[in-house]
Amino acid sequence: MATLGVRKLRSPTMSRIRDTDVGATSGFITLIVIGIWLHHGGASFFGKSLASTLTSLDQITGLLCSEAGILGLILITRTPLLERRYGLDRLFNWHRLLGEAMALLLILHIAFSVWAWSIPGGFFDSVKSLTGGESYMALTAVGSAIILAITLSSLKWFRNKMSYEMWYFVHLTAYVGLAFSFSHQIVLGSDFSTDSLARWFWIGLHLAVVVWIIWSRWGRFFIAIARPFKVASVTHEAQGVTSVLLTGKNLGRHRALAGQFYLLRQVKAGRWWQANPFSLSSVPTSEGLRFTIKSRGEASDAMTKIRVGTRVIAEGPYGVCTPDLVGSKKAFLVAGGVGIGPIISYLEHLTFSSEPIVIYRAHSNNELAHLDEIEALVNARNGKLHTLIGPRASIKYADPFAPHILKKLAADISNRVVMIAGPESLVKAVQKGARGAGVPAENIHAERAWW
Ligand SMILES: Cc1cc2nc3c(=O)[nH]c(=O)nc-3n(C[C@H](O)[C@H](O)[C@H](O)COP(=O)(O)OP(=O)(O)OC[C@H]3O[C@@H](n4cnc5c(N)ncnc54)[C@H](O)[C@@H]3O)c2cc1C
Repeated sequence: MATLGVRKLRSPTMSRIRDTDVGATSGFITLIVIGIWLHHGGASFFGKSLASTLTSLDQITGLLCSEAGILGLILITRTPLLERRYGLDRLFNWHRLLGEAMALLLILHIAFSVWAWSIPGGFFDSVKSLTGGESYMALTAVGSAIILAITLSSLKWFRNKMSYEMWYFVHLTAYVGLAFSFSHQIVLGSDFSTDSLARWFWIGLHLAVVVWIIWSRWGRFFIAIARPFKVASVTHEAQGVTSVLLTGKNLGRHRALAGQFYLLRQVKAGRWWQANPFSLSSVPTSEGLRFTIKSRGEASDAMTKIRVGTRVIAEGPYGVCTPDLVGSKKAFLVAGGVGIGPIISYLEHLTFSSEPIVIYRAHSNNELAHLDEIEALVNARNGKLHTLIGPRASIKYADPFAPHILKKLAADISNRVVMIAGPESLVKAVQKGARGAGVPAENIHAERAWW
């Protein structure tokens, strides 16, 4: 909590982008792509003969596949313009959907190309030409294989079999895959090799995205490396739960809001290559950024054992699930386990009129962290705290977040803003219960898992 002489950090600026801007930009790029295809006879080839129909389909699927790749890349530039409006979780989830669409279009593009090229010379000749016979096609074949491998690695079954870092580093090779595939678009086919206007538009679009990625994604990353934080204190909070306070000489320039999260990376041999997301567990102030961390696996365990003075690179802040969403309404807050971190930071930000009702779910009393702090914050805001302790099987109600139970805890829940932080299963259960209790979807907020 802020004490004398300690001031809250400034809030990040709001993004002015609107849904209509995003829709209009992606619609405009799609129209140009379809326009290029139509201009080069795509529609008139269609239906003339099998070969020309396949060529036409091959062209449009190739163009749309590249467009999906470009839009997917823009979504992960982490640009504040989009992140402050939609949140990293939503951008990553849209990126995944676009990635899947891109892979599907790529498979169709390959199938139509091989079929079309088989008509004059047979299947094997076609495969030979498309994997190396034609200029730049060897590079393209490798690029396509990389993109398809990345899509496969993102399917739940494969993802569950690899660590987050393994999946992430495999994902980084997408840049190589897309770069390798780019050349054949420019030199082969009728869309760009013979039309200089279309060619320069396409090259310009790709260059703009590359510059955007370098500036927004990697530029910010290198700024975070150049301005590391230092661990100022480490406090044991509960069984397997530690809070870590980060501070640094650039803190004053920093902008962050309660409820946001950072990707934290220890600057230490053997740890520097891992960055994990952790939420602020108190309003960010000139005293530092506090995170409450539970040992769940190797990286989070190392974070709970971090030493005072260790340098930490913090990328962020990210996230749009912030307490300003409550506005002038009353709040209903649900925390599961270490999800109590962001809930505390919301509470610190909320006013007396929010009368927060807080449900804190934990498996045992030993796992309750920051309990005194929450009680004090809730009482100071005329709110109420309910703890829900014990393994699922031992809890009195089959579904502790069923609509009638939520209504019992807050008769006016349908007029409250519900904010949830915790494991995905808890988030889903509360969302379902809150909707059943009459809370409109736009008043239910949670940070979604993206992996
Ligand atoms: C937005 C957000 C905020 C979070 N805030 C907190 C917090 O305040 N306190 C806290 O203790 N935990 C928080 N977590 C969870 C925390 O990030 C994971 O517990 C931690 O990354 C686990 O890593 P691990 O290597 O220790 O465990 P592992 O056993 O390797 O991972 C456990 C699970 O954590 C997820 N995970 C692992 N690494 C990453 C990564 N780099 N990015 C995204 N997900 C990953 C995966 O789903 C994985 O299956 C948050 C997660 C998210 C997405």
